[in-house]
Amino acid sequence: MRIVMLGPPGAGKGTQAKRVSVKLNLPHLSTGELLREAVSNNTSLGRKAKSYMSRGELVPDSIILNMVEKEIDKYEEKGGFILDGFPRNVAQAKKLDGYLEKKSEALEMVINIDVDEETAVKRLTGRLVCPNCGKLYHATNAPSDGACKGCGTELRKREDDNEKTIRNRLEVYFDETHPLIEYYREKGILRNISGKGSPDEIFQKILILIAQIKVKKS
Ligand code: ADP
Ligand code: ZN
Repeated sequence: MRIVMLGPPGAGKGTQAKRVSVKLNLPHLSTGELLREAVSNNTSLGRKAKSYMSRGELVPDSIILNMVEKEIDKYEEKGGFILDGFPRNVAQAKKLDGYLEKKSEALEMVINIDVDEETAVKRLTGRLVCPNCGKLYHATNAPSDGACKGCGTELRKREDDNEKTIRNRLEVYFDETHPLIEYYREKGILRNISGKGSPDEIFQKILILIAQIKVKKS
């Protein structure tokens, strides 16, 4: 199965992509996570990406495409992937299509999670993340000792989760990523869901959508 999760920062793509990945045993590829890992390991990729990320801008396509192609290759034998944070502009989407076409494959579904700007800002300014296992929390529901419930590591705020960078990420989203909605609608593979509601509710809606992929195939 080849699925893309689309939506503005703060829509809950990452949270949902992780759940789907576990439930369906499908590799989860988050370009944001890969980049943050590269930054924290101070690799040459990380050094190149760092300043763009801290400004909330897109990392140049050349860097991203090179990184993604290598990853996707690894996933092919595992039955596909769920992408989160990629593609992020039309150029990246076209590259992805071309890349899959060469293997006689295609995306099956693009799930667009929609959320309004103020909700997104509230979620992101309060977001806390476990630097060890990646589990996400919000300041309003985080453990009082500030440690991850799963692994005990001290929770942190992402460097780009400050209001100024968040506003910029949202602007970049509307300029660069939002046009992908139309791009995938034209291809007939876009499905929209509201990002309002509990993570469980949204997850259930996503599973219903994904079940339709299987129905189509059989
Ligand atoms: P969010 O969706 O919450 O903004 P991500 O973790 O997906 O966060 O991405 C964090 C940052 O990493 C982005 O602001 C951008 O700088 C960079 N990034 C991630 N994916 C891409 C991509 N496909 N193309 C360009 N830059 C990317
Ligand atoms: Zn943890």
